[in-house]
Amino acid sequence: MTDHKKLLSIVTPAYNEAENVDEFYSRVLDSTKDLNLDVEIIYINDGSRDTTIDVIRNQRDNDDRITIIDLSRNFGKEIALTAGLDYSSGDAAIVIDTDLQDPPELIPKLVECWLSGYDVVNAKRIGRRGESLLKKVTSYIYYRLLFHISAISIPADTGDFRLLDRKALDALSKLREQHRYMKGMFFWVGFRQKEIEYEREARFKGKTKWNFFSLLNLAFDGLTSFSILPLRLASIIGFLAAFTGFLYGSVIVFKTLFFHEPVAGFTSLVVLITFFGGIQLLSIGIIGEYIGRIFNETKNRPLYIVKDIKHSVFLKKSGVIDPNSQKCV
Ligand code: UDP
Ligand code: MG
Repeated sequence: MTDHKKLLSIVTPAYNEAENVDEFYSRVLDSTKDLNLDVEIIYINDGSRDTTIDVIRNQRDNDDRITIIDLSRNFGKEIALTAGLDYSSGDAAIVIDTDLQDPPELIPKLVECWLSGYDVVNAKRIGRRGESLLKKVTSYIYYRLLFHISAISIPADTGDFRLLDRKALDALSKLREQHRYMKGMFFWVGFRQKEIEYEREARFKGKTKWNFFSLLNLAFDGLTSFSILPLRLASIIGFLAAFTGFLYGSVIVFKTLFFHEPVAGFTSLVVLITFFGGIQLLSIGIIGEYIGRIFNETKNRPLYIVKDIKHSVFLKKSGVIDPNSQKCV
């Protein structure tokens, strides 16, 4: 280990990726061998139920540049990622999926941009192979919606694949919220950001871990973490509805008093009641989404629990959390 080289941490959360980790490892080594950097690989085993942990332990036996963070259960990708970033000791870290959808061959390009002075280098996907049309369309709409309503500009179509300089990593480690929408948080910290484009590959082996509900949850986390516009929208719609109601009511009172017209039909009454009932429930639902998140945050639990950890040879004591305290400051 030479002392002058900069250290690059490759952070990869793995949940049931036993079939992919060996291929991942060899492609990462291949892609980084010509870089004039030290490289450590940080695996976060996110409560896998297959043999992922055995395969990566095997890699670790032959390569002490690997860190293994074994979480006590499945905490979800966003949290697993956070654990990995907490324990990375590099001058920069690259966040990359183990399933090889983010091509490791792009690493030298990310590094090149970093060395030329950028603090955060985002990989933007220009194609998504192996993903369903429905996922492509919904994510297209979602990212554009998020871009327009969030207070920070979260660019469309960037996943988690990116490089972060130590400055950005330190800033990010201060954000300890439970509902973590990492894609947004990477932009929230600011710094000099650069975007490069890549074609997203299909998964090497296995299936995506996300289902409709987990994606919906993540989507809500994204919207509620970065915007209170939905709440404001509820107030605005409420105001408009009340105003329209007042006008319509006045017309009816006027007609009844001066023209003695009978009250308008039953149908319009039912329509109005269900319409406004719907708006009210929707508004309460929106408020509920925010309250639920406040509830979770106030519990102030640690983000994750580490069952076992094996550090890479590069571990620097400073800035790394004590795994026994489980609490990050
Ligand atoms: N992942 C994880 N914990 C989870 C779900 C996923 O660590 O609860 C990891 C997974 O092993 C992979 C990455 O996060 O390396 C991306 O997951 P996936 O490929 O399922 O998502 P997609 O690429 O379809 O968005
Ligand atoms: Mg994937």
